[in-house]
Amino acid sequence: MNNNALFLKELALLVSEKLSDYVAESQKGAGKVLVQRPASELAEILNLDKWVKNGGMNPETASEFLNAYLKNTQHLHHPNYIGHQVCAPHVASGIADFIHGIVNNPMAIYEMGPAAAVIEKFLINWMLDKIGWFKGTSLGDFGIIQGNGGGVLTHGGSLANLTALLAARAKADPESWDNGVDPRLVVLAPEEAHYSIARSVSIMGMGSKAIVPVPVTKNKVMIPDELPALYKQIQDQGKKVMALSASACATATGLYDPLDEIGHFCQENGIWYHVDGAHGASALLSDKYSHLLKGIQRADSVIWDAHKLLRTSALAAAVLFKDHKTLDSIFQQKGSYLFYEKEVAGFDTMAYTVECTKTGIGTKLFWVLAVAGEKGMATYIDSVYENTMQFYETIQKHPDFECPYIPESNILCFKYTKYHQENNAYQLAIRNRLILEGNFYITSTELNGVRYLRIVVLNDLTGISNIEALLNEICRIGEELQLTFQ
Ligand SMILES: *Cc1c(COP(=O)(O)O)cnc(C)c1O
Repeated sequence: MNNNALFLKELALLVSEKLSDYVAESQKGAGKVLVQRPASELAEILNLDKWVKNGGMNPETASEFLNAYLKNTQHLHHPNYIGHQVCAPHVASGIADFIHGIVNNPMAIYEMGPAAAVIEKFLINWMLDKIGWFKGTSLGDFGIIQGNGGGVLTHGGSLANLTALLAARAKADPESWDNGVDPRLVVLAPEEAHYSIARSVSIMGMGSKAIVPVPVTKNKVMIPDELPALYKQIQDQGKKVMALSASACATATGLYDPLDEIGHFCQENGIWYHVDGAHGASALLSDKYSHLLKGIQRADSVIWDAHKLLRTSALAAAVLFKDHKTLDSIFQQKGSYLFYEKEVAGFDTMAYTVECTKTGIGTKLFWVLAVAGEKGMATYIDSVYENTMQFYETIQKHPDFECPYIPESNILCFKYTKYHQENNAYQLAIRNRLILEGNFYITSTELNGVRYLRIVVLNDLTGISNIEALLNEICRIGEELQLTFQ
């Protein structure tokens, strides 16, 4: 074995040992979820100055660094991590990251990583199939299939949303790529749509005012019955609808828009229907919860994150289209050294992505599926959704808490109501104190101007005892802080 190979073997052994301990300890709920040190102190603890200037880390000296590094992570495997929508990944996903880091195959051109490219294409077919857009006979059909959907994996849902909206723009205004955007184009979306929708519209040069908010309920769920009047009003103003974007589910609340009714409306009126399923499309795998996505096949484009509910490490997302021909319309530019007519095997996806160099994203999801299986994934989704409902019942029953709505997914908002009911800053102060103490990690959000605490249950080890302990801590902190908020 040469020096490089031996180095890899020894370092990998050390790392895998440290990581196994890390996961085991985290899953037991030992220690803090998060310890936030000041940045400069942390740079010293990690010895950054020495390592960056002098190098020399090796399997003997890496141990100390790894200890410090792992101690100063956000512990997503800890059952008290119920914060942002990033999963405690299935550890198999990390194996894919490791392999990629060594083989480094940016597979958006087939010849730069045939195995990873095939895995991506296969998983795209798998996802299309879950939506009802796969028309081949086996998921290994990679040729052009009449009426088939299409798609690519991207580094995250934000890029996926941008890609989907670019496709919608190409349909509404095919000249826009060369001539710039028709100023009459607008996008219909709930005001609470994920910020990447508004950001995409601005990136595309349409200006954020091109977003027309659609009517929603008090829980911010789209009201399909109000769409015809809004549509007529927009047309009367001489504007053109480029796309309508629905959320499945909404980031803040975890509530699903009624996809089927909205889809009917879009199809009747020839409107590009985009479903942002970054968080909640994974419920398609569940017999119990797939009804939440009823009508998703009416969409023209769907995005779906694997790093939220498919137990995959970040980043791994898909942008999917009902019609595979859409892919050719999105980016109309050619880079001749890459996009020449091919005479060799395989397929290149580079023409369809914002990214030029792209990692073998699909391998991460592949490893999770290969170990857990589709059934295992469905069981996982069922359990985090079911657990969240159970947590809702516990929180709602507690005299000092209230929830603004019944959850549909694994996202839940609630509020400590014993003191200062109307004071958003008080609610936020409780959250900040809680995460500073580090035993729990939760987020917060505003709904109708009211600040709520928010949890996202992505770890199936998070149980009712964790939630009861959380409520106790909030009550204690609430008592401690209430006097300073008179
Ligand atoms: C998380 C999220 C996104 C953004 O996805 P990233 O992968 O974080 O870029 C988009 N839309 C919704 C509804 C989301 O929940």
